[in-house]
Amino acid sequence: MDKSIFEKIIDREIPSEILFEDSLCIVIKDIAPKAPVHLLIIPKKPISKLSESSDEDTQLLGHLLKIVRNMAKKEGIDEAFNVIINNGEKAGQTVFHLHIHLLGGGNIEIPSDLKTD
Ligand code: AMP
Repeated sequence: MDKSIFEKIIDREIPSEILFEDSLCIVIKDIAPKAPVHLLIIPKKPISKLSESSDEDTQLLGHLLKIVRNMAKKEGIDEAFNVIINNGEKAGQTVFHLHIHLLGGGNIEIPSDLKTD
């Protein structure tokens, strides 16, 4: 199967601003930021989307959220931030390699259909 763009970044085949890396994941700046801080937390394991993860990935998924927390603190946005995972094309997923969006540092527009008022 073809490598996703994120696998190519992990393998240093294409450049990206890597802010953090450990044995399980990398954190990069989103190339088209939707907020003053817009990072992507990406597991090295090529899981195509959250719904394709398995119970075996429980620890990995927890680890990714821990990194979200640490990066929010590092970026100084831990008081207010949003975490988004798009799962599937109809939900706006464009890169089929699991990733968590971390957005903060400004007012974030929540899609109107998610608002309760
Ligand atoms: P999603 O729509 O949830 O699949 O998110 C994919 C995200 O990856 C988008 O926000 C893109 O702007 C971002 N993206 C695509 N290519 C790159 C790249 N080469 N470096 C950094 N971010 C990227």
